Amino acid sequence: MSDRQTPARASFPGATFSVWSLLRRTLTAEPWPAQWRSPDPQPAYDVIIVGGGGHGLATAHYLAAEHGIRKVAVLEKGWIGGGNTGRNTTIIRSNYLWDESAALYEHALKLWETLSQALGYNVMYSARGVMMLAHDEHDVRSLKRHVHANRLNGIDNEWLSPAQAQAFCPPLDISPNARHPVLGAALQRRGGVARHDAVAWAYARAASAQGVDIIESCEVTAIRRGRNGAVTGVETTRGPIAAPRIGVVAAGHTSVLMDMAGMRMPLESFPLQALVSEPVKPVMPCVVMSNTVHAYVSQSDKGELVIGGGTDIYPSYAQRGALHVSAHTLEAICELFPRFRRLRMLRSWGGIVDVTPDRSPIVGPTPVPGLFVNCGWGTGGFKATPGSGHVFAATIAAGTPHPLAAPFGLDRFRTGRLIDEAAAAAVAH
Ligand SMILES: Cc1cc2nc3c(=O)[nH]c(=O)nc-3n(C[C@H](O)[C@H](O)[C@H](O)COP(=O)(O)OP(=O)(O)OC[C@H]3O[C@@H](n4cnc5c(N)ncnc54)[C@H](O)[C@@H]3O)c2cc1C
Repeated sequence: MSDRQTPARASFPGATFSVWSLLRRTLTAEPWPAQWRSPDPQPAYDVIIVGGGGHGLATAHYLAAEHGIRKVAVLEKGWIGGGNTGRNTTIIRSNYLWDESAALYEHALKLWETLSQALGYNVMYSARGVMMLAHDEHDVRSLKRHVHANRLNGIDNEWLSPAQAQAFCPPLDISPNARHPVLGAALQRRGGVARHDAVAWAYARAASAQGVDIIESCEVTAIRRGRNGAVTGVETTRGPIAAPRIGVVAAGHTSVLMDMAGMRMPLESFPLQALVSEPVKPVMPCVVMSNTVHAYVSQSDKGELVIGGGTDIYPSYAQRGALHVSAHTLEAICELFPRFRRLRMLRSWGGIVDVTPDRSPIVGPTPVPGLFVNCGWGTGGFKATPGSGHVFAATIAAGTPHPLAAPFGLDRFRTGRLIDEAAAAAVAH
């Protein structure tokens, strides 16, 4: 098993991006080559990854780059990144409460810091700071507890007074008579955002260049098992494909897939939605989150305010959220940032998030031999993408959990050794 904490820098052929290549292609009108291959499925692979989101693609990349397992297929029922990877509000942070979570998310954050260089593709990671607001005494105590716990783990997090919070984020209203008064804030300066599609594309490109087959429009419809119970392959809309190891990385549809192997998962699937405003000039220098009022906002490089809220109340596979949830989110944003009241909303959309009882992910082997699962990231898995793929690849390669993934096994729901991040991540991103 690889217990390396820092993945190797990938080296792969294909178009490189530089000022010179941009200039050359502009002057010669030479078209850019396809960034990844689109092969037909082969009859058999060493590993099948079900789900072409960021986590699945990252897993395939690290399987090839770090473990020399290149006969890998990523099967995606739609298009890569078309699931939650391309639908999220891209908040990245590692200031989780418990040691196990902090270690896993910090592993991911460290990878984010050099991901563009490692993959040779600009994922636009921007460490602009993530500020979490406290609106009542409970929030203050909870967030201060996080600050102390994080600092003991060597993770940056600091407590700000209301005035300091406003200095960091000028549009924030800190008047004491506001509907949601700001009593302070926890700030992780290394937190920030990245370009979600680029993350999927970067991993796809790197994985494909190392021989991984990325097969889109290929829905897995059954998981095949042999006489001894071990997986032998999958049925898909593009025919059967054999493999002795299968990694299910299907976010909100994980329960559906695991049911194909006869496994019932401790997961509920909820719609979670996000919105963007019309584009405006730079006005929002950081990410602000308010768990209490269920509203999160940052500004994209295009100028749109990117806004997220809470999950719907009821589980559902409808890929859109209830209107009253987004209305509540916008009310809260207007209270916290009165100057945003005049902005018009441009688009809203939803994704299906997979939520565990303790709001922590499940990463590891399953009781079905050869079947591995990576799920339960719920409303906050984008930030974990590189770390999740890295530890899941090591887990699949070795057949036993990577040390950082070990606490996140399925058996915690039997032993009761839960990692309860619900207070930190009830709906947090
Ligand atoms: C609105 C919204 C906002 C969010 N905001 C944040 C945030 O700010 N920060 C953060 O860290 N996280 C956030 N998240 C959560 C984050 O998006 C997810 O945790 C993360 O992207 C999950 O990545 P993934 O690769 O596991 O899943 P996905 O990207 O969903 O990939 C799973 C893939 O599996 C495919 N699939 C499903 N069934 C099958 C099948 N039978 N056969 C083949 N393929 C199949 C799907 O089509 C999908 O492409 C948000 C989520 C949403 C919906």
